[in-house]
Amino acid sequence: MSERNVIPIQPLTDAISASLFAAPVLAGLRKSVPAVAFRAPDPADEERWRRHAIGGRTYRVAQPVTFTPYASAQPCSARCRFCSETLIEAGGARPSSALRPGPGYFAALESALEQLRGLPLSYSLSGLETTDDAGWMGAMLDILAQHAAVSPVLNRVLYTNGAGLAVAQQGEALTERLVDFGLDWLELSRHHFDAATNQSIMRFRPGVQVQHQPAFSAMVQRLAGRLNVKMVCIVQEGGVAQTADVLRYLEWAHALGVRSVIFREFSKLDDSYKDNVTARYIGNARVSMDSLLAQCLATTEFADSFAFEQVTEGYYFWNLVGRFRDMNVTFEASDYSQMHRQHNSGDVYKLVFHANGNLCADWNPERHVLLAAERANG
Ligand code: SF4
Repeated sequence: MSERNVIPIQPLTDAISASLFAAPVLAGLRKSVPAVAFRAPDPADEERWRRHAIGGRTYRVAQPVTFTPYASAQPCSARCRFCSETLIEAGGARPSSALRPGPGYFAALESALEQLRGLPLSYSLSGLETTDDAGWMGAMLDILAQHAAVSPVLNRVLYTNGAGLAVAQQGEALTERLVDFGLDWLELSRHHFDAATNQSIMRFRPGVQVQHQPAFSAMVQRLAGRLNVKMVCIVQEGGVAQTADVLRYLEWAHALGVRSVIFREFSKLDDSYKDNVTARYIGNARVSMDSLLAQCLATTEFADSFAFEQVTEGYYFWNLVGRFRDMNVTFEASDYSQMHRQHNSGDVYKLVFHANGNLCADWNPERHVLLAAERANG
């Protein structure tokens, strides 16, 4: 069973279209979108919710729901200028990215998963860079695999900048580890086809090999032979910002053997975030997905080779998926104010296990705590 069995897909009518997050975008399209995937559950549709007890309290949990063991064993190998992990919430709690796992971490992770036994989950491996610490990653995957042997796990996805996967020998071993783990796909961040421009955005630390084009290309070609690779490009001023950039990016990814590309807009921020250097960069460099998509569809070279397949209604994002020649291409945008609204609803839309040992229904390690560290360790 995978998430595809849980998420209803329906023909997209005008009435449905007008009710979606993507309504303004859909209304402006010259091409119609045939179908909609309701990834976010209707609050009134009991079939899309599970009641599950965690720490002695029963919650209503969305289906599908993703579980993230937040990777923060060490600082990230990159320092992306827009990194959402460096956004600071005005509330003042230490962000998850600043927490490091202590000696009780893996036991606490096992305890948290024990509480989730029987609840269908998908694994979403993200946070800082999971592959930067191969030891932590291997131990974490072992625990997740043990859980999957006794409890339903629908999908397994890794979000990565590729740093650990591009290291000779270690990268090959990690790749095989991910194949054995049953990874459904990995989302590989690369924000420009030109390595120097990409480095000006991602700012990999000195000595991190993946920043260089030969190391990156060799890694992608190896990964594409073993795993389903989706390349992720966050569109931005100074990076991929125009139709010509989109076309070049697709051509470049295709030559590396990649057949899926996701173009993503910076998440829209609400006023819960402090006005720090990252928030200002996001504000200044934002390229709106609506306008980029409109621009692409107004360009014959793109529009003549592109066909929409579906729109996805997420709980705080939308995306439009289509075929460009033999590639899957996704245009996506998200909104943190909507995410916070849903997380504050009392229902559980997301599960995050933080390095402080808290299992939360939020990315903030002190908010919507479902299982506190002491209890997990106790
Ligand atoms: S690779 Fe991800 S976690 Fe690392 S700096 Fe970039 S956005 Fe942040």
